[in-house]
Amino acid sequence: MGERIAVIGGGIVGVASARALLLRGLGEVTVFEKENRLAAHQTGRNSGVVHAGLYYQPGTLKARLCAEGRRSIRDYCAEKGLPYREMGKLVVAVDESELPALAEIERRAIANGVPGLVRLNGTDRIRAIEPHVAGIAAVHSPHTAAVEYTAITEAMAADVRSNGGTIHTGQEVVAMQIDGSAVRVRTHETEEVFDRVIACAGLQSDVVARLVGADPSPKILPFRGEYWALDPARTDLVRGMIYPVPDPRFPFLGVHFTRDVHGDVHVGPNAVPALAREGYTWRAVSPRDTWEILRWPGAGALARQHWRMGLDEIGGSLVKPLYYRKARRFIPELRMSDLTEKTAAGVRAQAWGRDGTLLDDFAVDQVGRVTLLRNAPSPAATSSMAIAEHVIENYVFARATE
Ligand SMILES: Cc1cc2nc3c(=O)[nH]c(=O)nc-3n(C[C@H](O)[C@H](O)[C@H](O)COP(=O)(O)OP(=O)(O)OC[C@H]3O[C@@H](n4cnc5c(N)ncnc54)[C@H](O)[C@@H]3O)c2cc1C
Repeated sequence: MGERIAVIGGGIVGVASARALLLRGLGEVTVFEKENRLAAHQTGRNSGVVHAGLYYQPGTLKARLCAEGRRSIRDYCAEKGLPYREMGKLVVAVDESELPALAEIERRAIANGVPGLVRLNGTDRIRAIEPHVAGIAAVHSPHTAAVEYTAITEAMAADVRSNGGTIHTGQEVVAMQIDGSAVRVRTHETEEVFDRVIACAGLQSDVVARLVGADPSPKILPFRGEYWALDPARTDLVRGMIYPVPDPRFPFLGVHFTRDVHGDVHVGPNAVPALAREGYTWRAVSPRDTWEILRWPGAGALARQHWRMGLDEIGGSLVKPLYYRKARRFIPELRMSDLTEKTAAGVRAQAWGRDGTLLDDFAVDQVGRVTLLRNAPSPAATSSMAIAEHVIENYVFARATE
């Protein structure tokens, strides 16, 4: 019998980690998920895109694990008969001021080995791919795909169970105690002893890190992403995925158009500060989460650096014409009435350092025999299977201290 390993978090990264541990025969695995279902937070509330690796600084974990993860997710969907549709993605520069940033995306994409990448100069070449887009230049990634991450997580959970693993939903880990080579894990219902723990707690990753006395930095700064549905009668405006050139000072991609596996088109997400870790609307306010954010040492620096963009995003969230204006930049035929209703929002778990910087790369910490995923924002769903392998190979067994 191998070791007893607990995984905290039933999002795609936690479940992929549990599955990888079992397939490698590394021990008995138990997953704890605080909600009554898997994929209840970021994994079940995202854009459903399998990124091809355009944006990431070459040499980073994001660049490497996104490329590896894309191939793993593609092969896994093929093996399980899950939908995987290569819609293709355009990143569009609307005016000359965006050309340097577009050139940098192209440079990174080439360095990251994004398959089939093409640079398109001029409206005619862009319109051969997306007939309703206005832009002066673009890069096209034909293998960017759409999937359903909840279905993928459920399929991986079935693999966990069929390989002897246990998944407890509705069980929040509220305390951990490292006791020599044992880790005592407590929920409201049970207390169990494990040899090792992997925490993939998303929006709660700093809270879980504090349970074992890890550095409180990086903290999680929750950023909500809100979507509008495109009128089903107008989805012919978008063939695949259409993105703006993102602002390089900010770790989010900008409001974009995404066609999902069912053919529906979603517009978004924006990025507004959430007033609760799991705050999916403006009405969801946690005084405690908000107070913790306001008194974080980096709050002032972040506010000074990004207040203009923050106000712009909040305006777009509260006032539909402002949101519409961003979307219409690429598709001039878009009418405000084409954005029919707001659909389920997601909240991104963005790690935030003491000095106010937003961490760009994936980040992992180790405290004794507890491995903590501290930053797993987009493209962590794409990268999930590769993150699992990386964490197991480089942390869980390699760096654990007795
Ligand atoms: C709006 C939005 C759009 C995105 N679009 C994309 C995209 O198109 N492509 C892409 O690759 N990525 C995308 N992402 C990012 C992606 O969704 C996340 O990076 C990924 O889902 C992270 O998975 P996770 O398992 O780490 O986190 P989560 O899915 O958030 O799972 C963490 C789980 O841990 C549980 N948990 C927390 N604390 C405890 C505790 N104490 N005890 C037990 N359980 C606990 C939570 O309930 C939760 O279920 C997007 C994210 C958002 C928010």
